Amino acid sequence: MLEVLTNARVFAPEDLGVCHLRIGGGRILSVSQDSEAVSAPHAIVTDIGGRRLIPGFIDGHVHVTGGGGEAGFKSRVPPVPLSSFTSAGVTSVVGVLGTDDTTRDTRGLLAQTRALREEGLGAWCHTGGYHVPPVTFTGSVRDDIVYLDPVIGIGELALSDHRSSQPTRDELLRIASDAHVAGMISGKAGIVHLHLGDGERGLDLVRQALALSELPARVFNPTHINRQKALFDEALALAWEGSTVDITAYPVADDDDAWPADVALLKYLESGAPTDRITISSDGGGCLPVFNEQGEITEMDIGQAASLPLTLKNLLAAGAALEQVLPAFTTNVANILRLHDRGRIKTGNVADVVVLDDNDDICDVMIAGIWHVKDGRQQIFGQFEEQSRAAAE
Ligand SMILES: [Zn+2]
Repeated sequence: MLEVLTNARVFAPEDLGVCHLRIGGGRILSVSQDSEAVSAPHAIVTDIGGRRLIPGFIDGHVHVTGGGGEAGFKSRVPPVPLSSFTSAGVTSVVGVLGTDDTTRDTRGLLAQTRALREEGLGAWCHTGGYHVPPVTFTGSVRDDIVYLDPVIGIGELALSDHRSSQPTRDELLRIASDAHVAGMISGKAGIVHLHLGDGERGLDLVRQALALSELPARVFNPTHINRQKALFDEALALAWEGSTVDITAYPVADDDDAWPADVALLKYLESGAPTDRITISSDGGGCLPVFNEQGEITEMDIGQAASLPLTLKNLLAAGAALEQVLPAFTTNVANILRLHDRGRIKTGNVADVVVLDDNDDICDVMIAGIWHVKDGRQQIFGQFEEQSRAAAE
């Protein structure tokens, strides 16, 4: 079935003006300013009414199985349901394991990633987790990336954190080389997605690894770079070296030594650092703990995919231009993950689109040509949320 979206102010991320899109087979078949060029007999026509149409968000760091587990077994976070992604405009995710890669493993992560695919979401995952040696499916990081379809890299491997394995430089280098070579063989991302903790060592191990080896900087992909202001400055320098660095969109209190995601992105762009080497992820489903000096949890919150549209809204409220901030949520993420047909409104790409209303809120979400949210109403729910929704009605 063909569908035509008319009168959309398209940000591809760049501003293409008012365009019309023809969609079929889950893909964008054409984008044109000439409505005649996209017209098709028997097509379903949806008038976007001049509203802004953007690529769906690609969330490169999500605990799809639920993360947590750092304050006893009852603190294991449950799996994240489909609609918490789609209602937030997230059309693709990359699942990760974190601190708890013991009661959770790559098998469970693969299963949940495939479940989200069956429900219509774009979904991939990393092998491994916080620790060394990394938890894997096949016994080898390289084989997991090469042979397992959804696996595109390794992470989140923890550095400078009391929950890490305290990996050495050489351990990091061996894992990074496996990721790099597997990426070459498979055409996948081939990155080490690095969790950065609050430790004073910051990105020191990554700098050492780059100085000592022939590995390209793109292999090292640190996240949570805005959790400390000094770490953010280190990450800026690393972006100049060639790494893509990732901001986490978690809540930040006024007295935290951290930058909120919107502030961090603006600081990054204002610094003049390469605009294609910055991304934003949600840490959805992960627990956001506060520890005391003994490494015990004093507070815990759960990351939400909804933090991404909230960050975009804050950026626009601060006067940022949509086409300047959008790449961090879309194109840049697709680039570092080597998802070549996502993250951009372009002929041939997967039809993952989001429509923003006049309040900068999300009103429509299409994934691979299927409407998941239409006129602000959720159209599709995940397997078990459908049951709980029906029970509530
Ligand atoms: Zn993390």
